[in-house]
Amino acid sequence: MGLAEDGGLLLPRTIPRIGCETLSSWQDLSYPELAFEVMSRFVDDIPSSNLKDIIHRSYATFATEEVAPIVHHGDLHILELFHGPTLAFKDIALQFLGNLFEYLLADSDSHLNILGATSGDTGSAAIYGVRGKERIKIFILHPHQRVSPIQEKQMTTVLDDNVFNIGIRGSFDDGQDIVKKIFSDIEFKSKYHLGAINSINWARVLAQIVYYVHSCLHVIGHEKDSTVDFAIPTGNFGDIFAGYIAKKMLPAGTIRQLILATNNNDILTRFVSKGDYSLNDVQETSSPSMDIQAASNFERYLYYLLDSDASRTRELMEEFTKNGKIDLSGDLDLIQRDFVATSVSDDEVSKTISSFFKEHGYILDPHTAIGVKAAKDLKTVGVPLVCLATAHPAKFYSTVENALNRPPQIPESLAGIEDKPSRCKIMDADKNAIQEFIAQNADETPLLPHQT
Ligand SMILES: *Cc1c(COP(=O)(O)O)cnc(C)c1O
Repeated sequence: MGLAEDGGLLLPRTIPRIGCETLSSWQDLSYPELAFEVMSRFVDDIPSSNLKDIIHRSYATFATEEVAPIVHHGDLHILELFHGPTLAFKDIALQFLGNLFEYLLADSDSHLNILGATSGDTGSAAIYGVRGKERIKIFILHPHQRVSPIQEKQMTTVLDDNVFNIGIRGSFDDGQDIVKKIFSDIEFKSKYHLGAINSINWARVLAQIVYYVHSCLHVIGHEKDSTVDFAIPTGNFGDIFAGYIAKKMLPAGTIRQLILATNNNDILTRFVSKGDYSLNDVQETSSPSMDIQAASNFERYLYYLLDSDASRTRELMEEFTKNGKIDLSGDLDLIQRDFVATSVSDDEVSKTISSFFKEHGYILDPHTAIGVKAAKDLKTVGVPLVCLATAHPAKFYSTVENALNRPPQIPESLAGIEDKPSRCKIMDADKNAIQEFIAQNADETPLLPHQT
């Protein structure tokens, strides 16, 4: 589940610690084997053999056996998280989540209908996470003709019977608004056992912790160094929060510092630099997956910042909902023990893509370029630095093409996608009509008592 019953977010009661010896014993594990070691420390209700199976199937869909290879350019390590079926890092969590849901639904003999609105990335990663799964149907609304052609095709060419793409005549906000309204119809929600694809499910964070540990092992093996920094392009504070948990789990000092990088939507940069967590309007940038203001995972971090004081966390989150801002400048020392931050403009993104290609012959996507630019600005000499590469450049074709004056190479999974058969229901941005469409196609399910 995403939200807890009191409206807060869920966290593990304790964070398991990994000792130095255990860490070095993991040096030669494959990615799925390492994922099992890390995740099983948080899971006590799935038998080991089942959890192993879920993990192995989740990463078997990746284009490389390494799952998350690390390449070296200049003094940076680039962690490539975009080899999953939709070419962005969200696959790492959503392939796992899809298989996890499938297992849990079979175990409780129930069904789930997933409903969400997308501006591009999350929708396709969620669709690929659950395609073909027997007990799950997925309904994804996207703004018709307002997502990139590649993003649209990635979603609509998935022809499995359980996948319903709805292109609405309207904006992303119209779609999100309709989804919210349908979720607030409690009777409908429980009749059809509606679930969200939200970025707040703990299992997504869990899957993302793994590649931080994987990177530390790689760098320690490679540089014979025991300290690592990370640079992370950030929107919802999900990916970087996984890094923060990894930092807590690993032997002290293994992860030294997390460089938080935002685009012009810089609420998190202002938070790290000044303790000022205050909303502005969302601006459109060339890194659309980070065009976010209120970061949905921020509350989780806040809880640790406030020394695990749940009621103080609730108070501050309520204050934020009411006033659109909270002031944490009194905690700046603590915040800056873990994070440094900077924001990067579209112009700098374009220059970074171009200069990195000239220097290293390697093409960055706009999101990754934000992390790389922040890394270059804030890097500490002598400390190995891993930059998270969150999307394949071909996904953001025109931005990359404009920066380089040449198109990025198209990976095999996208080749010929324009000509593939697709299926999509085009509808007006009309809540009742869309709700009716869902009712016609969703599975009804009797609710189990613990799912209310
Ligand atoms: C979602 C996304 C991000 C931001 O990740 P958060 O977990 O929201 O901080 C960065 N880059 C890409 C390509 C994404 O799809």
